[in-house]
Amino acid sequence: MTAELTLNNGVTLPAIGLGVYQSPPQETAAAVETALKVGYRHIDTAAAYGNERQVGEGIRASGLDRSEVFVETKVWISDYGYDATLHAFEKSTRKLGFDTVDLLILHQPAPDRFERTVAAYRALEQLLADGRARAIGVSNFMVGHLTDLLARVEVVPAVNQIECHPYFSQPEVRAANAEHGILTQAWSPIGGITFYPGWGEDRRNVLQDPVIAQIAHAYGKTPAQVLLRWHIQQGRSAIPKSVHAHRIAENFDVFDFDLTDQQLAAIDDLDTGRRHGPDPDAPMPEGIRDRTIPED
Ligand code: NDP
Repeated sequence: MTAELTLNNGVTLPAIGLGVYQSPPQETAAAVETALKVGYRHIDTAAAYGNERQVGEGIRASGLDRSEVFVETKVWISDYGYDATLHAFEKSTRKLGFDTVDLLILHQPAPDRFERTVAAYRALEQLLADGRARAIGVSNFMVGHLTDLLARVEVVPAVNQIECHPYFSQPEVRAANAEHGILTQAWSPIGGITFYPGWGEDRRNVLQDPVIAQIAHAYGKTPAQVLLRWHIQQGRSAIPKSVHAHRIAENFDVFDFDLTDQQLAAIDDLDTGRRHGPDPDAPMPEGIRDRTIPED
């Protein structure tokens, strides 16, 4: 059993996808192939991850038809602007080895240069109209960024991919997404491993939270499976990353149990309102923001 979500343009998306941020290129093809063997049909990559080529290789190695796999990628900020974003799409598809992608999203709102963000989104609208992307969307857009974008463009994003795990679950962004018919997709859905500056001394790993451990014990499931179940039952897409076969399988084995409303609420209550990841409104180091995405 699996779970499918329907986007606001009617396209369907498998709720659980494999994330490949920080998957080393030399391990990415095998991770993708493993995931597809255990039943995943959705891969989330990005131009900025430097492993689109290996994602394409893993999909081809699986023997599945291209149409059976939902491929999602992201445009990096240095490629924002109408023509630059159209070109970025050509770079991504060339590396993936596919003519089309299923979901193409803007990686960041880049609020300090929002005109270019809007122009980039208009390029996404063109790619959607041309049938090169089956759906388009955004990532890391907070409520104000969404409001500003929606005032300027025609197509409501299908997806907003945001940091979302029990310690930082962003209820206000999720509510804004829902109000506009935008699907919330959770990045770092099991809390990730990278604790970013700002988290300070109060470092906690949600996989070790006692509330999660207790629920996991009750079902004979792992903490990661409980977190993924929490996302699914609340209607989100989640894209856990792993390069280890046993964890890739574990993260997909989440369709045979149901959390109760009380358990879902107990997990909701873990929200600290504090990010693990970067603040989309904070200035990004220029070396990261402006880094060139290679042609090949
Ligand atoms: P995740 O919440 O997916 O956690 C991944 C980490 O947890 C890895 O270190 C992985 O290690 C480990 N792990 C995976 N499965 C298990 C398990 N069952 N038990 C214990 N540990 C586990 O965090 P990510 O930050 O990687 O986010 C997931 C995806 O979201 C990314 O890969 C990317 O696709 C997307 N993303 C998007 C961002 C954006 O700005 N749009 C930002 C960050 C992420 P190992 O690989 O060694 O198994």
